[in-house]
Amino acid sequence: MSDNSKRVGFIGLGTMGAPMARQILQKHGQVTVFDVVPAAVQALVAAGAKAGGSPKDVGELSDLVITMLPHPDVFRDVVFGEDGLAKGLKAGAILIDMSTNGIAVTQEAERALKPKGIKVMDAPVGKGPWAAEKGELTILMGGDEATCRQAEWLLGMVGSKLYHCGPLGSGQVVKLANNLVACGNMAVLAEAYVLAKAGGAKMEVLTEIMPTTSADSWQLRHTLNGKILKGDFTPMFKLKLATKDMQLILEMAEALGTPFGVGKGVLDWFERSKKAGFGELDWGAILLASNPELKPQ
Ligand code: NAD
Repeated sequence: MSDNSKRVGFIGLGTMGAPMARQILQKHGQVTVFDVVPAAVQALVAAGAKAGGSPKDVGELSDLVITMLPHPDVFRDVVFGEDGLAKGLKAGAILIDMSTNGIAVTQEAERALKPKGIKVMDAPVGKGPWAAEKGELTILMGGDEATCRQAEWLLGMVGSKLYHCGPLGSGQVVKLANNLVACGNMAVLAEAYVLAKAGGAKMEVLTEIMPTTSADSWQLRHTLNGKILKGDFTPMFKLKLATKDMQLILEMAEALGTPFGVGKGVLDWFERSKKAGFGELDWGAILLASNPELKPQ
C-alpha cells in the first residue's frame, strides 16, 4: 500500500529506470528524478515528475531513493561524489540500489551511511524492460528485515514478486547466480551457432529444432530467434551490461573460492564482443563477433 507521506527519489533513467520511475509516478503521484542525460529527465518531467539538479538534491528532497545505474563505479560516484547522495540524504532515509552492482559496493555504501542513520538495502531485479513497463519485475531484496518491510510498499509498485534473499548483499548474490545462467545460455547459443555454421548444415534447421528439444530456452526464443536473426540489435539488455555482470560474477567467485571454469569461457565471449565495438547493442550481439553477416539492419 502506498505511503503518501513519503517522498521518493529515482536516479538512473535508462532502459530499466525510466519505465520504473514512470510506474512510481503513476501509482504514488510523486517522484524526484535525476540522470546525466537531460532528455531522460525531461521525458519524466513532461509526465509530471520533479527534476533534481544532482544526486545530492534528490537526496535532500526524498525519504527513499532508488538507484538504477549501469556500473558499480557510477554508483560510487552518485553516492560519494562531490554532489553525491551521501551529502543530501537525512537520518531515517532509505537508499535502495536496484542496479546489478555486486556485493562490495553495497557494503561500502552501508559502512559510510549507517553512522549517519541512513539505511541501505539492495534490490536488483529479474526480467527486462517489458516487465518494467508493466510494474511486473521480480525484486530480490537484501538487507535487514525491518528495512526491507519499510520499502515493500514502494518496491511493489515496480515489481509483482518480491523476495527477501537475506542480509545486505544477498539480493546481489541471487541476481549474479541467476545471470551466470542467463549469460552462459546466451554464450553457449553463440558457440553452437558458430559450430553448426562451420559444419556446413542448413542453419534454419538448427534454429527451428532447438525450441522443440531440451536445448530450448528464453534466450533462444526471445533473443536469438526473436531478435538477432531478424537483424534487430536494439538493446533490451546492453552487451556491456552483460559483460559487467560476468566480471562481477568472476570477482564474487574469486572472493568465495568457488569454481569459475564455465564462467571464464562465458566472460571471454562477452569481452571479445565488447572489444569488437558491440557494447551498446543488445547482448545477443555476442553473435556478431564471429558472424559479421548478421550485422544490424
Ligand atoms: P542503461 O544503460 O539503459 O541505463 C543507465 C542509466 O544511468 C542511463 O540513463 C544513464 O544516463 C544513467 N547514468 C549514467 N551515469 C549516471 C550518473 N553519474 N548519474 C545519474 N545517471 C547516470 O542501463 P539499464 O539497462 O537501465 O540497466 C540498469 C541496471 O539494471 C544495470 O545494473 C543492469 O545490469 C540492470 N538490469 C538491466 C536489465 C535489462 O534488461 N536492461 C535487467 C535487469 C537488470
